[in-house]
Amino acid sequence: MKSPNLPAIGKRIRFFFHSIRFRLVLWFAIILAIVLAAFSGFIYYNQSRNIQEVAAYNVERKIALLNHTLTITPSGFVFPQGILQDTDVLLLINANGQVVDRHGPIPGEDASALASRAMEEESEHGNSPYVTWSQGALKPQANYLWVSVPIVSPFGGLVILGSPLDPTGVYGKLIFTLVAGSLLTLAIALLGGFWLADRAMRPVHTITQTARGIGETDLSRRLNMKGRDELGELANTFDAMLARLQAAFERQRQFVADASHELRTPLTIVNLETSRALASRRPAEDYQHALGIIRSENEFMTGLVNDLLTLARMDAGQTAIEKTPVDLSDVVVETVERLTPLAARKEVRLETGDLPEVHILGDRQYLIQMVSNLVENGIKYTDGQEKCVHIETGTTDGTAWVRVSDTGPGIAAEHLPHLFDRFYRIDKSRTRPSDGDGDGDGQAEAPGGSGLGLSIVQWIAQVHGGEVRVESTVGVGTTFEARFKAVD
Ligand code: ADP
Repeated sequence: MKSPNLPAIGKRIRFFFHSIRFRLVLWFAIILAIVLAAFSGFIYYNQSRNIQEVAAYNVERKIALLNHTLTITPSGFVFPQGILQDTDVLLLINANGQVVDRHGPIPGEDASALASRAMEEESEHGNSPYVTWSQGALKPQANYLWVSVPIVSPFGGLVILGSPLDPTGVYGKLIFTLVAGSLLTLAIALLGGFWLADRAMRPVHTITQTARGIGETDLSRRLNMKGRDELGELANTFDAMLARLQAAFERQRQFVADASHELRTPLTIVNLETSRALASRRPAEDYQHALGIIRSENEFMTGLVNDLLTLARMDAGQTAIEKTPVDLSDVVVETVERLTPLAARKEVRLETGDLPEVHILGDRQYLIQMVSNLVENGIKYTDGQEKCVHIETGTTDGTAWVRVSDTGPGIAAEHLPHLFDRFYRIDKSRTRPSDGDGDGDGQAEAPGGSGLGLSIVQWIAQVHGGEVRVESTVGVGTTFEARFKAVD
């Protein structure tokens, strides 16, 4: 016979006692028990008051009847049938406190105890017409209501009438009904509570199972729960989170693939050039040409690796941005100074328009990188007779802006939404600055890049609470505008 797996059972029992289901039902039961106890207590209190009032009324009525009909002699009493019940007690006590006559289910010693109690009560309360008390000295039926009435003449003494508080046993039935009813309600509530909690928690179980089954490589799984309740909302949130994770993993994968692809081409070129140069003795110009190409590929790879590093840091949130008041016109002047030699080499006119002082809160170095990327793109992509890149700054309604326009080929509308995507290049056939012009200087005529520059521009703008816009007309030129909140 297979022995039961005890540790597993123990674990399940522990889990059960720690489960939300158990705690929910426990709290529910405790609260219900308190409510039931309070309710039962209230009913019991009310009912017992009713019973006491009815008993007091009955005893007084009997006393009133006996008052007219009871005949007392020195040796006893006589009263008509029908006034007292079998359970009622009637005692005649003489002035010395001795029991002279008695009626009802009362043994001799109880009768004497009652007589002395009645005498005590009588002396305490003086000359009131009658005295009532409810603690009976009767052993088997303690719950009696007692009335003692003094006999004025001719012998003195007392008449004591005792009537059971609860002759029909209402108390017992009431207690039984309240206790049994409460226990039954509690039991049904517990069972129902477990059933309900089980049903309510079932989706959580499904979520747990699915989450357990999802691996890093299997992010396409979804819960697809239709419920409109809180758990349905949780499942939807979970699905949305999975979708975001999947997209992030996919982006990451694509990023690594694109980066590898970008690096593979220059590495192959470097490899080819070195192999060709080393294959046989060649004239000095051939070596110079090969080294020019290798340097240019190396520059491209350095730029690419720098961009990748910037993006990786951005993604990891490791970039320290220190925001201080920065004048955008200063940023433009510094950028123009740095890029003037490049523009001159490419025969591009770099001109500045209005440059009023425009202050924003930002990191100067990152802002210079942002404007540089835009101006470099302008220089790279501008063509035609009059090659010009124009830069200006300004403020409009509290928004500071820097605008970089060029007289380049423009960008077709279908490319604009993807322009800021990583590795997005409009003309993939355009190569990097390899020495394609045959002058052996390692500088190409055709522009080229990795497609990361504008992603970095966008990130810098966003991290400064701003945005980048682009407007372009094919054949006329392109304008990039970065906008930020101006400060005084
Ligand atoms: P890259 O390093 O290739 O320049 P960017 O992210 O800076 O990467 O630019 C993405 C693409 O957008 C470029 O490949 C180019 O095709 C296009 N582009 C960017 N700026 C301009 C511009 N001023 N004029 C025309 N096309 C541009």
